[in-house]
Amino acid sequence: MQHDPGRVTQPIDLLVRGGTVYTPTGHARADLAIHDEKIVGIGLADHLPAGRQTLDASGLAILPGIWHTHCHFREPGHTDKEDFASGTLAAAAGGVTFCLDQVNNSPHPTSLAAFQAKRELVAPKAHVDFGLYGGGLHPGEIGSIARAGAMAIKIFNTRHPKDAYPYIPELGVTDHGLMYEIFEAAAQAGVVVAVHHDDTDWTKRMVFREYIDTGRVDNQAYMEAYEKGYMYGHGMVAGLAASLYYARLAGVRLYVLHVGVMPVGAYELLRHAKRELGQTVYGEMELTAMLMDRAQAEKVGPFTYLWAHSPEAAWQAVADGIPDVLQLEHAPHTRAEVESGWQDNFSIPLGIAASRSSFRSC
Ligand SMILES: [Zn+2]
Repeated sequence: MQHDPGRVTQPIDLLVRGGTVYTPTGHARADLAIHDEKIVGIGLADHLPAGRQTLDASGLAILPGIWHTHCHFREPGHTDKEDFASGTLAAAAGGVTFCLDQVNNSPHPTSLAAFQAKRELVAPKAHVDFGLYGGGLHPGEIGSIARAGAMAIKIFNTRHPKDAYPYIPELGVTDHGLMYEIFEAAAQAGVVVAVHHDDTDWTKRMVFREYIDTGRVDNQAYMEAYEKGYMYGHGMVAGLAASLYYARLAGVRLYVLHVGVMPVGAYELLRHAKRELGQTVYGEMELTAMLMDRAQAEKVGPFTYLWAHSPEAAWQAVADGIPDVLQLEHAPHTRAEVESGWQDNFSIPLGIAASRSSFRSC
């Protein structure tokens, strides 16, 4: 961006000096002029207006604000874990300037009334810009939730094998007919549908057959079940296959969540849909798919998020443009809820606090 000396009256509000500025075209050592909450100049300070305030950023990178697209802030309903104020404050501390909030709180924003009530409750508490998902459960509510400002509609096409929180049974849309009707309504409203996919019956059968029914439920067994593709695995890919087909049939734009924890078959399905079919589909991949391995996960046991099935394939998928968004899910729980996972990992919630560390850790 060039500074336009005729446009900015001196002094400006803030001059950030000495940092390395990253822009879409590259990065360079430069100073940054900010006025009225807008960047009004990038260059060397000698050529920029004087600042009322100066910030020394020597040795630091200056980046655009990060968007965190997968925040499970716990308001309303679960504010013993976190509220919208503390969650967005942590995000701001990590360089995140926009958060997109998920739906599995209580009451769920699956009706216009619940969606509006949630927004009125959380908006005054937000420390960064934010958007809200609407909950995809009732086809008749989708249009009004979209018109009320939902950025997208979230569907849980899943239930936990033991119905453990946060895969709340009443939010699960495992009936493809119902999912299709939500797709139709979303297509008509022109809103994107984001789906956490699964093939719940398959997943449940495999998990019970090899683990829960045999009493092998500790953290090691759970990690094995994940590595085999039973927990967060092949069922997700099978669910994605059905969903891609129905989304195309309904003409809805599909946003695929959790690409990073799915086996690599998911990358192939997305590659085919995007390249061969020209379908409007987006993928959201967890950074864990590139950065975590089982050895790291074992150190923190039930407090971990999952790790990469194949980091090489994940990096290649990123290079190929298969995922459109990289994220690290923010889904905090209390220590008391998670600690028993060392003994029984199939009965506790999955998730970590990452509204801040999503960026700092990478
Ligand atoms: Zn999530």
